[in-house]
Amino acid sequence: MIVMKFGGTSVENAKAIERAAAIVKGRLEQQPVVVVSAMAKVTDQLLAMARAAGSGDRKTALKLCRALQERHYNTAGELLGTALFTEFHSDLAADFENLEELLRGISAVGELTPRTTDYVAAFGEMLSSKIVTAAFAALGLASALVDSRDCIITDSTHMRAAPLFEETNGCLQARVAPLLAAGKVPVMGGFIGSSKAGITTTIGRGGSDYSAAIIGAGLDAGRIEIWTDVDGMMTTDPNLCADARRIKVISFDEAAELAYFGAKVLHPATVLPAVQKNIPVYVLNSRNPGCEGTRISARAPRCRNSFKAIAVKKRITIVDVAAPRMQLAHGFLRGIFETFDRHAVAVDVVSTSEVSVSLTVDSTESIPALAADLAKLADVKYEGRKAIVCLVGENLRETPGIAARVFGELADVKIRMISQGASEINLTFVIEEDVVPEVVRRLHKAFFSDLDAEVFA
Ligand code: ADP
Ligand code: ASP
Ligand code: MG
Repeated sequence: MIVMKFGGTSVENAKAIERAAAIVKGRLEQQPVVVVSAMAKVTDQLLAMARAAGSGDRKTALKLCRALQERHYNTAGELLGTALFTEFHSDLAADFENLEELLRGISAVGELTPRTTDYVAAFGEMLSSKIVTAAFAALGLASALVDSRDCIITDSTHMRAAPLFEETNGCLQARVAPLLAAGKVPVMGGFIGSSKAGITTTIGRGGSDYSAAIIGAGLDAGRIEIWTDVDGMMTTDPNLCADARRIKVISFDEAAELAYFGAKVLHPATVLPAVQKNIPVYVLNSRNPGCEGTRISARAPRCRNSFKAIAVKKRITIVDVAAPRMQLAHGFLRGIFETFDRHAVAVDVVSTSEVSVSLTVDSTESIPALAADLAKLADVKYEGRKAIVCLVGENLRETPGIAARVFGELADVKIRMISQGASEINLTFVIEEDVVPEVVRRLHKAFFSDLDAEVFA
């Protein structure tokens, strides 16, 4: 069997869902399980209405909810035609009634907890998976809806729950495998799951890719296909640099590094389950299904270029922690990291000197509280509007002088932090956010103009 995951833009409206159906039809003999995201932008809208309700603004929350209802009704109506839609309508109507009731409840209490946030956010994938299942059936596919909350079992860390693989694999075998055996096309929502106690959870923004990999690993898929709105993994974000080129094949390690440092075409956790079972992952374009996309596999072929791609992560804050007299005394670093841990703030890049440590974190509202806590240990400064730029490539290990070439290209750019990770396949540095487009264009021109045709399209 294979897993085919369609992202938000690949199910954004009736046309997109019809395209997805045609793509699935072409793969029937490979026994696809289809995983779908919420329709494009829906998760953002659900979170916005949850926040509005949480701040007591019931009117805005309900207005947003009705707009969402209209969009889903229109899409379903267009796909199903009048007769089928009438049958299906009550199912959707019940979901929207539940959502409205929930929003009223949240605004009455005036408090939004992570648990309730998950409950609201899950509507996106619940609705899209229902509509896609019905549309596939109307288009002649033997589709069968599987509620992911019955299969993807997670811990209770709401909004970024971790899957419990043993339980999940058992549920997938019990509920999804028999459908495949019966010749059906199971359709599941990505991103959502439930705790052992049956409470709805979500596995983090962009997590439908991860769902696809979890499902693929649990069912021993022959391949996992991530269908999105670009031709594959590119040498950089095509929205940032029009000259970005498609990478034909990339290693699991390189892809994971790129995803972690901002290439949102793939959720960073996606490759993990695939690596463990050695299942190849493909990134493909649902608007250009003839294109062969990017294959992510255990080992990348030899490549004469130093780098495969440039990733960028914006909205970064640098935290500088200076210990004036202690000089990084024993236990100092531990104290710092324990503080980050207590505030559940993840650190990306770290550099130390004798008397100070600089760390980068995603800019969040928890930084002032974190800084206040760190100030008990040392002098603290923090500065937002930074970006991490990460150049990735397996060949980095064997290319002497490469750092000199990179920073030579950027001789007039203020570089705030530099790190070459232990993985030895990334060269990472931190710059001001506003110079990102210029820096990426320059690096892309310098390192991606003359490309190995075996590896790049
Ligand atoms: P989906 O909704 O299908 O999950 P996403 O929006 O999460 O799609 O990811 C696709 C987007 O990722 C692309 O539209 C592109 O702007 C962005 N992106 C960032 N870096 C890269 C890269 N290196 N290669 C391809 N796309 C990238
Ligand atoms: N719908 C979720 C999000 O927007 C998950 C996903 O699309 O991958 O984050
Ligand atoms: Mg995505």
